[in-house]
Amino acid sequence: MLIVQKFGGTSLANRERLFAAARIITREVKRGSKVVAVASAQGHTTDQLIADAIAVNPRCSAREMDAYLATGEQLSTGLLAMAVEALGFPVVSLTGWQAGLQTDGVHGNARIQSLTGERIRRELETGRIVLVTGFQGIDPEGDITTLGRGGSDTTAVALAGFLKADLCQIYTDVDGIYDKDPRIHPDAVKFDWISYEKMRRLIAGGAQVLHDRSVELAQAFGLPVEVLSSFTGNPGTIVCAESVRP
Ligand code: ADP
Ligand code: ASP
Ligand code: MG
Repeated sequence: MLIVQKFGGTSLANRERLFAAARIITREVKRGSKVVAVASAQGHTTDQLIADAIAVNPRCSAREMDAYLATGEQLSTGLLAMAVEALGFPVVSLTGWQAGLQTDGVHGNARIQSLTGERIRRELETGRIVLVTGFQGIDPEGDITTLGRGGSDTTAVALAGFLKADLCQIYTDVDGIYDKDPRIHPDAVKFDWISYEKMRRLIAGGAQVLHDRSVELAQAFGLPVEVLSSFTGNPGTIVCAESVRP
């Protein structure tokens, strides 16, 4: 079984959370699965990087902004790899371009176009856990691109789709998708499953729990995506087609 897991910023925010994520990854490896895990930047790193860049040059080019912003995910992926190593498991971390994530050239909001997945497959074959830096790819010029805010979700769905993974899990700081933001509305109701269409309507209405393009891409691949908490062991919400609903 091949599982793609993605860990959001809060789920990697400090050393304790990094090790919690590493244990979620290695638990699946102990059960016999191969795992590819995608890391977002820790905590509010990306906001800070944007503020720092604008403080230096409010009119900085989109190309330079992307090269700079992509470093947030490189830091967290590196640390997560070290946490996995510390638990005694073989691991390799890959940037978006090492993983072969090709995008168009729209800096700041690039679309994933293809994945040359040979490197990832080769690493999985040797028994390593593969960590992929979220939110970034490489354009036809060979330049680093970023996928838009929240874009690590789309990295994970693209990897799961192109690699034909059996399962795509988005680990975050809430235990699933609710009818409204559960942090703001204590009476929010959780969905066991939600269709791609309804999920896209929820996002269009302002729910930033998933990157819109990740749902678009999951629907194109016909890939069910589970959104669940890295903090609790609660079952999450499956985003899928009506025909395969649980
Ligand atoms: P991550 O860093 O893991 O990518 P995000 O902040 O992007 O996490 O998304 C998770 C957040 O989405 C939650 O903390 C929650 O406040 C917010 N959210 C907004 N609307 C919803 C909703 N309908 N269901 C669940 N979470 C929601
Ligand atoms: N770090 C990026 C952001 O904050 C991407 C992501 O978290 O998915 O938007
Ligand atoms: Mg997010």
